[in-house]
Formats: sequence, structure tokens, C-alpha cells
Amino acid sequence: TATQAAILGRKADFPGLVNSDGSPWHYLDTAATAQKPQVVVDAVGNALGRDYATVHRGVYTRSAEMTLGYEAARRRVAEFIGGAEDEIVFTRGATEAINLVAQTWGTANLKPGDRILLSQLEHHSNIVPWQLIQDRTGIEIDVCPLTADGRIDLDAAERILTGAHKLVALAHVSNVLGSALDARRAADLAHGVGALLLLDGCQAVPRMAVDVAALDCDFYAFSGHKLYGPTGIGALWARADLLAATPPWQGGGSMIDRVTFARTTFAPPPQRFEAGTPAIVEAIGLAAGIDYVTSIGIDTIAAHEAELVRTTREALRRINSVTLFGPEDSAGIVSFALSGVHPHDLGTILDEENVAIRAGHHCAQPLMDHLKVPATARASFGLYSDEDDVAALLRGIERTMRIFG
Ligand code: PMP
Repeated sequence: TATQAAILGRKADFPGLVNSDGSPWHYLDTAATAQKPQVVVDAVGNALGRDYATVHRGVYTRSAEMTLGYEAARRRVAEFIGGAEDEIVFTRGATEAINLVAQTWGTANLKPGDRILLSQLEHHSNIVPWQLIQDRTGIEIDVCPLTADGRIDLDAAERILTGAHKLVALAHVSNVLGSALDARRAADLAHGVGALLLLDGCQAVPRMAVDVAALDCDFYAFSGHKLYGPTGIGALWARADLLAATPPWQGGGSMIDRVTFARTTFAPPPQRFEAGTPAIVEAIGLAAGIDYVTSIGIDTIAAHEAELVRTTREALRRINSVTLFGPEDSAGIVSFALSGVHPHDLGTILDEENVAIRAGHHCAQPLMDHLKVPATARASFGLYSDEDDVAALLRGIERTMRIFG
């Protein structure tokens, strides 16, 4: 198919997908972090090497060029998710983006008696920042339950939401179950009671087309390293009027307009939220990752991962001792349990077979409580994943079952 043709052979672009002896490494932990194509490695190398200089300050040519590269990366991120350039704040990742919203917008706008709505499947990075703010502001946190197949239950959200709710903060795609949110409906429900919608887009941006305007959300957070870019870079998108009305977060260089000991005034967004020398090299690397993804097509990647999920779930369903979690149409992520085998033991045996999966609570302990398991095994796909990886996973599971009798 056209999808296969666009993806096939891509493995060769990823230096991380081979072992030191040249044998293939079956990497099924892309939801934790994606392997990088050589073009990203090269972009980072060049930015750190021959092109390196600071941004925004230098009067010399190299710095002016670096500034153009850094700001072009911001434009690239904005285009990729359908926002405007000055609505993109570079952060260290999704975690920092959500903390930024909690500590700036949250502190300025939340007061005792206000409520926010999270869900049972959130990553700790979309729970703990709000608990920290709860201690400071006196808000109440409500938890939206899940449907039987592991989606955020928006019918329940509709019943829970009241005029006291100021924010709804939800994962666009679950990092454990792969379930995708009906984000547009979530936005309508939030806005219907006068609340804002924050989407944690970490697992969505690498595997589905995202358009923040069409989703009608208010904040969107994601990490670059899951989008085939480097670590240490991510983005917060926020509606321009919201950013403009939000006080600064960290203070320092670059975020100011004029500093005196009597009174300091601040730069407009997004600079207001980027104190200090930014992650220049990483931003340029992220732009290269986005270029790579765009050259294949995000819809092609989505279709490819959907096919891998389908075949993996089908094969796992045939194994009696496997319990599958999450919806049938999960996005690129399959969580499961093997009865009588702890996920860590499965992960260790699979490692001997050159297969890397994630075993643990996936930074979603409230979801583990809901599933009534201490941990799950999780196989997650990227654009480079293929049938060989799935076959290796299945071989490893069969061997594990033999070992455990
Ligand atoms: N949210 C989700 C859904 C995630 O999968 C992750 C990463 N596992 C995060 C937030 C946090 O991302 P980071 O650690 O890159 O800040």
C-alpha cells in the first residue's frame, strides 16, 4: 500500500535502531521517547558545531543567523499544530509546559472554591502540578472516570462540570491505553461552563494530525523527544489573548522589557515566558524532527501505527494468558498483562530477545489503581516500527510463557 511504501526502508534513517553488532533492535518504547532520524542528529550536530552561537543578543552575523534558526523553529512548531508563532512558548517539555500553566495562569486565576477537572488516566505530569497549585490556591480537583474500554468518559464529564470549574486538563492520547480523546467535544463541554481546556498532547502529536484551532482548546502541551526531536525541548501553545493576560513565570534575562530596581517591565509573549538562554540547539533539532515527520505525512504515520496496533492486538488476543487494556483503536500504544508473569520479568526476558518494551506504572499510578494492576507491559510504535518488531515481540512472549510454564 501507499502507506507501507512511504514508511518502508525508513529504519535505515535511525542509527539507534541497530545494536553495536549490527543486529536489529526491536524498539517498542517509542511512547517513552522516539528514536531520532539521522537528519535530526545532523541538525543537532551542526547547531552545536559549525553554526553555534547564542540567540537574540549577538550583534555579529553568526548570532543573527542562529536567532533566525531558533525563531524559524518556533514558526515550524506553530505551523505543525495550527497555532500562531507568538503563541508558542518553548519549554523543556510537556512537564514544564503544564507546570508553567499551573503556576502562572493557575496562580493568577484560581481561587478557593474553584474546581478543575482531570481524568483517571492522566500522566503524573498532568496531576501533580495541579496538586501543588491546589495547596496554594485552595481549589478542588475532580476526576473524570473512564469508559469500560479505557476512554475518558465525556458523558460523565458533562455531568460533573459546573460553573465552579475553571479548567479541564486532559490527555489528548493516553500514554498507557492509547485511547484518543474526543477533544472537540471536551472543548465544547469545558467552554459550556466557562472553563478552559488544556490538552496534554505528548502522545498525540507524534501519531495524529493536530490542529489547535479546530480542536478549540486553550492550552496545548507536548514534548519534542517523542516527536523524533531531542530531549530538553517542548512547547506550550496557548491562545494569544490568554498568554497576554498571564503574568511571567521565571524571571531573568530575555523575558524583560526594562529592568530597574524601582520597577521591571516584561517582554510580550512568548519571550515573557522564556527566561534565560533558551535550548537553542534542541529547538533547531525539534524543527528538523517536525520536517522529517511532515515529509512522510502525519496521516501516513497514523495509518501505519493503526495497522501495527491492529495486528498486535489480534495476535495477543489469541494468547489465552494475555489481558489487553485500552480500546481496539488505540493510537500506537498497546498495554497488556500476561497472567502469572510480572511485567518487569516479561520486559527482562524480552530484552534478551532484543525487544524493548516498557513495564511499569508509566507515570500513571491512578490509572494502575483503576485497572487494579501494579503495572502493565506496554508496546508502543513509531513511524519506523514494522511487522518484524511485532513478530519479535510475539516470539519473546511465547518464550516467556515457556519459561514460566
Ligand atoms: N504526558 C504524557 C501523556 C506523556 O506520555 C508524557 C511522557 N511520558 C508526559 C506527559 C511527560 O512528558 P515529559 O517527561 O517529556 O515532560
